[in-house]
Amino acid sequence: MAPNENIDSLVLISGGPLSTTLLYSSIASGDKPLALHYIMKSRDLSTSENASKEIASEAKVTFRTLNVDERNLDFNSRIMATIIREFMGNDEEKERQIGPAILISMTVTYAIKNHIPKVYFSLGGEDKYDFNAIDNINKILEHHNCQILTPFRGKKSSDIIEESRKLKIPIDKTWACETPTLKGTECEICYKCKIKKKYLNK
Ligand SMILES: [Zn+2]
Repeated sequence: MAPNENIDSLVLISGGPLSTTLLYSSIASGDKPLALHYIMKSRDLSTSENASKEIASEAKVTFRTLNVDERNLDFNSRIMATIIREFMGNDEEKERQIGPAILISMTVTYAIKNHIPKVYFSLGGEDKYDFNAIDNINKILEHHNCQILTPFRGKKSSDIIEESRKLKIPIDKTWACETPTLKGTECEICYKCKIKKKYLNK
């Protein structure tokens, strides 16, 4: 059963500006998404969890977290294995694909279990992803009444930032930093903080 009868889609949210833009864009297109945030046991990122929670509350959508203990992941489950193999099978930059492959396989497995038919991922901008793998995975997922959607595919970062402004995302509530200060504030130096500054038009 779906976590909530009104939910018709799932948006994986990190708390950063990119996934926040995706959440707002899915709401704008008429979806009733569940905002799902992963808590990875190996990393303590309560700041991004709190940011994600606030963003979901601001957007008035259901929020869930999934505690992930990487040691317990079942990489032999059929869907996980299939998705990871699609990603890893034909790409020369294999190491770059393993992160998204694992996240996508876990999230799609969650969506299938909970009968959520659409799963959004914020893949796009200048980052390279194997979208052919996603097309192949979607053919397999048709049999599970589930589809992966990547609306940022082929879009430039500047287009996505433009969209975030139109959608008026709560940029002040987002959290992107990978190396926070001891006070728990954003460092404003790391790669993710630099990207966030672009969203803030700084
Ligand atoms: Zn930072």
